[in-house]
Amino acid sequence: MIPITAVDVRDSEPHVLAVLRSGILAQGPMVERFEAAVAEMAGTRHAVAVANGTVALAAALQALGLGPGDEVVTSPFTFVATLNAILGTGATARFADIREDDFCVDPDAMAAAIGPNTAALLPVHLYGQSADMGKIEAVADEHGLHLVEDASQAHGATFQGRPVGDFGTGCFSFYATKNVTSAEGGAITTDDDALAEHLRLLRNQGMRQRYRYELAGYNYRLTDLHAAVAIPQLERLPRLVAQRKENAARLSAGLAELPGLRVPRELPGRSHVWHQYTVLVTNDAPVTRDELAARLAELGVGSGVYYPRVVFDHPCYREHPNVIAAEVPVAARVARQCLSIPVHTALSHADVDTVIAAVREVFAA
Ligand SMILES: *Cc1c(COP(=O)(O)O)cnc(C)c1O
Repeated sequence: MIPITAVDVRDSEPHVLAVLRSGILAQGPMVERFEAAVAEMAGTRHAVAVANGTVALAAALQALGLGPGDEVVTSPFTFVATLNAILGTGATARFADIREDDFCVDPDAMAAAIGPNTAALLPVHLYGQSADMGKIEAVADEHGLHLVEDASQAHGATFQGRPVGDFGTGCFSFYATKNVTSAEGGAITTDDDALAEHLRLLRNQGMRQRYRYELAGYNYRLTDLHAAVAIPQLERLPRLVAQRKENAARLSAGLAELPGLRVPRELPGRSHVWHQYTVLVTNDAPVTRDELAARLAELGVGSGVYYPRVVFDHPCYREHPNVIAAEVPVAARVARQCLSIPVHTALSHADVDTVIAAVREVFAA
């Protein structure tokens, strides 16, 4: 079976062993090295490491002062962490539909969702491609709103040459399946010295000096053991991205012009880092999306549906006072049609060709 994700962290071993031997297991020098590498990736002055990507989003929103009464406009087509982080602050989530060409939130729909209580825009760089940050940044500036980026799936992606995480307050995840992993981990990127300092205090119980509490903080810390896992991947990130790009190009060449199959595109001015390679199975296809997934599994090819429903379309959010459902027809249709197929760095050319042949076989039937 060719899996939909594969983790290769063998080159982390010396770093992890160095941490074990040092006796400094919790936040220490490895976390500092990790932060320097993440800041370099995002092109920012600061990166603040935290325990996971959900905490990165929650801490960013908290440090920006969001809370009850504030509204955040985000994408309905995302992992649930984006929504849960907003709700965790006590703020309210509103949704703007996505565009089919990049699967990211539509800047015009975002502008239309802005009201008197809107405090922040929260685009998600889904599947490894930046949202339309030129327009989204302009909307945020025009309305005086905070801009927070969910870059959990887009390590090293750029928009017009500028890395994601550098437009607004950047939030990254280093969960086991992401393009760069520390097992669990997160980071917030920013050029704002004061915001970075505030985040470092929030992360560590409000302490700069031990037992001197400057604000009501929490424990959001990452460990040196986890940071050590991610460091080698950050160092070889350009190569990892190049491998994903090569696999994606090979898939797109092999799957071109199949009626009923829409392949993903890297849009002009953007560098896509291919966290997922996601096709749409449209109505004129000979199979449904779920049939394609089942047939691929029979042929030894793993796949995944990210995500099967729009994020607020679940019982626990239907009656939630801080979740404002919206008509999002593009996101709803994409949720029915999307299927991600393997594009990760553990694939050989032969594996990619196997994936292509399997899809073509199902579509030929
Ligand atoms: C993975 C992910 C997160 C959350 O990250 P965790 O590290 O799992 O908490 C948030 N948003 C998106 C879009 C993600 O893919």
